[in-house]
Amino acid sequence: MNAVLDNAAAAPAGKSAEKIALENNKLHKRLCRLVGQAIGDFNMIEDGDKVMVCLSGGKDSYALLDILMTLRERAPINFELVAVNLDQKQPNFPDHILPAYLKQLGIPFHIENQDTYSIVKRLIPEGKTTCSLCSRLRRGILYRVADELGCNKIALGHHRDDILETFFLNMFFGGKLKGMPAKLVSDDGKHMVIRPMAYVKEEDTERYAEVKGFPIIPCDLCGSQENLQRKQIKGLMRDWEKKFPGRVENIFSSLSTVVPSHLMDRDLFGFKDIKADGQANPLGDIAFDEEPCSTPSTVPGIIPLQRT
Ligand code: SF4
Repeated sequence: MNAVLDNAAAAPAGKSAEKIALENNKLHKRLCRLVGQAIGDFNMIEDGDKVMVCLSGGKDSYALLDILMTLRERAPINFELVAVNLDQKQPNFPDHILPAYLKQLGIPFHIENQDTYSIVKRLIPEGKTTCSLCSRLRRGILYRVADELGCNKIALGHHRDDILETFFLNMFFGGKLKGMPAKLVSDDGKHMVIRPMAYVKEEDTERYAEVKGFPIIPCDLCGSQENLQRKQIKGLMRDWEKKFPGRVENIFSSLSTVVPSHLMDRDLFGFKDIKADGQANPLGDIAFDEEPCSTPSTVPGIIPLQRT
């Protein structure tokens, strides 16, 4: 029987075992469907790929590996998975947890030991944010490891909420309309970085981690504070989710439905060269409240806009 159905330990109180099993099964199916859809929409994985799955010990990367393993069994194409963890030598990092878990899964894996923690501590003054240097060092190491392992794709566990938070951070604090790509070429130009969880909500990975009992390694081992601005955006999105159901989904949908002629980027749209040549313009100057009812979004989980 599906392990998801078996584990009712983390279920909310007051629900029957049957209902919990049903919900867990639905959750597993939803995750497989959304990850499969993102992979298909962005052509993330192709026949013959060797995918390095980056595993931090957090809920999202555990869920990513688990779902990719399920999809690989069902996929009509052949691809390999290699789990990789970078042990950055943070104090008290429980380095036995991931190898034990991965051995039990029976999946090829590699643990890369690199003391980036000491480098970051040495270079960043006390009290300053360490994450930017730490991430840059980690990225470089992961690219090298992908090369050494012969992996042409690098899969990361970022989900829908990470993408939206980054979008708002860039807009609010960076003055840019820019999110987090679902697929991109790595900085060194040699690998494809993919985010198969791009359509998955964070609350689903949280619940899935509970259901599956992943051996989570807390992410505060380095003593670093979570980015305050990201925390604020998270809070904002959580409030919207409660007060205006559907709003967050619509914002996410808007990332796939861009109309460059109605933004202000002169590099993206040739405003200077447009001419009134007598041809009807279907986009016109229609405002939101004049638009016809929106057609269903191609992005999963999107609630169509309601007219009043
Ligand atoms: S939280 Fe710690 S491990 Fe994570 S990026 Fe920041 S400094 Fe690095």
